[in-house]
Amino acid sequence: MRMRLDWVKKKMKYVDEYRDAALIKGVLEEIRRIVTRDWVIMEICGGQTHAILHYGLDQLLPPQIELVHGPGCPVCVTSLELIDKALAIAAQPNVIFTSYGDMLRVPGSHSDLFSIRASGGQVRVVYSPLDAVKIAQENPDKQVVFFAIGFETTAPPNVMSVLQAQALGLKNYSVLVSHVCVPPAMHAILGAPNNRVQGFLAAGHVCTVMGYWEYLPIAAQYRVPITVTGFEPLDLVNGLLMCVRQLEAGTFSVENAYPRAVTQAGNRAAQAMIHKVLQPADRQWRGIGKIPMSGWAMRPEYADFDAEKRFDVGAIHTEESRICIAGQILQGLKKPVECPVYGTQCTPQTPLGATMVSSEGACAAYYRYGRTA
Ligand code: SF4
Repeated sequence: MRMRLDWVKKKMKYVDEYRDAALIKGVLEEIRRIVTRDWVIMEICGGQTHAILHYGLDQLLPPQIELVHGPGCPVCVTSLELIDKALAIAAQPNVIFTSYGDMLRVPGSHSDLFSIRASGGQVRVVYSPLDAVKIAQENPDKQVVFFAIGFETTAPPNVMSVLQAQALGLKNYSVLVSHVCVPPAMHAILGAPNNRVQGFLAAGHVCTVMGYWEYLPIAAQYRVPITVTGFEPLDLVNGLLMCVRQLEAGTFSVENAYPRAVTQAGNRAAQAMIHKVLQPADRQWRGIGKIPMSGWAMRPEYADFDAEKRFDVGAIHTEESRICIAGQILQGLKKPVECPVYGTQCTPQTPLGATMVSSEGACAAYYRYGRTA
């Protein structure tokens, strides 16, 4: 089996090969062969959650392996408070508010960006923050704001847009920043008294930017194996196999199951660009609460491009919904089907929480792929 997996890592060229049923079946058989007891493993990223449910991998694993779904869905963890700030900015008459499409349906306290657009607000979907910079160039009489949410993965293009706007001398471009980072969330999950997670599949795309050196002390401190894992089904089962091997052996190192994209150091140029524009800051995670130094905010040198300062929305404070248990789901404590309103009051058409809205949200994935209690 090891030889077969080594061949997979070295020779694969096309994405279809990572969906090869025979190879996936072989890896699953190996997991079944080596597992001797129950293990709880968390896949960090919502993209991984969707791929696992889409390909039915959760149903093909041996019953000893329980997968729980982590907080790595940027739309899901963006705080209600920040969404309310976005709504307050987008409703202003001289503003063109730009965002990735997923954010438009995420409910704030009383409204969402779609409703703002329906009532005459200029809310536009863009596919890159550089598109928002272009809109700012074309509309010098308007204030153009980009909703810069996400994990480490989306930070490089977001800060690049600020640097480009600065280079172009634009005075009408700003970003509403809500960046969060994976390592502090892992600390929060593992340090909680009710933690159930025994091993992690780390998010391959985050590690493409940041590397995985930050995970080495986490694995050592909490004695958990961490496997950097991609998003195709073969990547996922291979990451699980490496994690289960360590769990069964009682070891707890960081391994890379995504070497075609990830190195330990990551993309140093991208990291330098991020740290030039952003600095560590406390962040409010939707449903989880405040995690100290768990994200990034704009450095004072770039305050002119900080929409929160430009539009004076810093004073908006909002309470999270009491019905939605997304916070417990994102910490691996509950499954979407355990939410009392899952599939009844809360559906993708009538979402009560962000995990039902986002294409990466665990509740939306369970609903889409027909998982029931
Ligand atoms: S089903 Fe809806 S209300 Fe329940 S946790 Fe998921 S998003 Fe929240």
